[in-house]
Amino acid sequence: MGYIEPAPLADKENPFEAMMSRFKVASEKLGLEEEVYNVLKNPAKQVIVSLPITMDSGHIQVFEGYRVIHSTILGPSKGGIRYDEHVNIDEVKALAAWMTWKCAVVDIPYGGAKGGITCNPRTMSAGEIERLTRAYTSAMIDIFGPDKDIPAPDMGTGPREMAWLMDEYSKTQGMTVNAVVTGKPIVMGGSLGRTEATGRGVMVTALAAMEKLKINPYKATCAVQGFGNVGSWAARLLHERGLIIQAISDVSGAYYNEKGIDIEKAVAYRDMNKGSLAGFTEASMISNDDLLTLPVDVLVPAAMEDQITATNAPHIRAKLIVEGANGPTSSKADAIINEKGIMVVPDILANAGGVTVSYFEWVQNRLGYKWTADRVNRRSDRIMKDAFNNVYKTSQDYKVPMRIAAYMVAIDKVAKTYKYRGGY
Ligand code: GLU
Repeated sequence: MGYIEPAPLADKENPFEAMMSRFKVASEKLGLEEEVYNVLKNPAKQVIVSLPITMDSGHIQVFEGYRVIHSTILGPSKGGIRYDEHVNIDEVKALAAWMTWKCAVVDIPYGGAKGGITCNPRTMSAGEIERLTRAYTSAMIDIFGPDKDIPAPDMGTGPREMAWLMDEYSKTQGMTVNAVVTGKPIVMGGSLGRTEATGRGVMVTALAAMEKLKINPYKATCAVQGFGNVGSWAARLLHERGLIIQAISDVSGAYYNEKGIDIEKAVAYRDMNKGSLAGFTEASMISNDDLLTLPVDVLVPAAMEDQITATNAPHIRAKLIVEGANGPTSSKADAIINEKGIMVVPDILANAGGVTVSYFEWVQNRLGYKWTADRVNRRSDRIMKDAFNNVYKTSQDYKVPMRIAAYMVAIDKVAKTYKYRGGY
């Protein structure tokens, strides 16, 4: 899902440092006490496991798995599991902290966590991925739990892996515990609307930002980087709201059509082409950097971390950036983007629609009840709009960029709760 060539190495930023530098600026603006800052900067728990798996060939391969719980101050920790060959502890630590801030920005009662396994699922069989998922779940059995830590999909995982995780966890408990994981298939307690939820939140916050910038969606152009779950749904829903999607991309390259790409066609093509846009002929091929620097109104980076860097940021021509991915902009690029007056709807706000509907899934599982798609969408749209307005107001009140405002909203909430709860 959403694989893309990494940014040039010279620009590489450690994702945990990228998160920390924004956290620091926002904490200073808030006047956060140093001792509370110290509490919030460190992950509460980090677990690394070794997972020996018998591969189809008969040989045993050992994989490394992670789960980092950044915070449980607001409630049980929540966050996805990433399967990718580049997964490492620093990335998981950053992503876990981002989950804490994300849940706080949209005001849902969760802390933040993230998990991952260093593996390349595209080269593994379904059986190998199933054994790896079950081994990981078993190794994390004391960590996960519907009131403790609730995983979900992320890059490289989806409903299929969540079903195996739920089954493996349930076996050890001697009963079905569907609230232990979200993003499950609909038939086994998944929520309607969860698949498209992150892309939908990107669309809702993009439209809210366009209203502030007085950009008419029916005349606006847009480029979307990444065509996994988030990018393809964001492109589809923005297209439905009138935007002309001039460029899309995936690991096979970037595709450009000035008149607009028919997103339904692109999705249909990808789905019958083993998940890849390779060979898509409705557009001409451009480079990843070309896509990021197109003169469009709206740019949606929805692939992975560290794509907008100090090197390409000076050339970005979009008026609005809506971050579908986690951490797509390096902290060094922030200053350049701000200087250029480009509005950014930051990741912890723009892509929070996914975890919001995960929360609804968990609520429905615990109620033993199913909501209609209409109820899910109405409630998540409301949450995303309220969160956008709250962050926008903070950015105006404190005269700070939207990213810092989002961190301020989140840190303030977690810090206040921490003070009420107290420590040792
Ligand atoms: N992995 C998604 C994210 O980064 C979803 C997490 C969840 O639903 O818990 O927000």
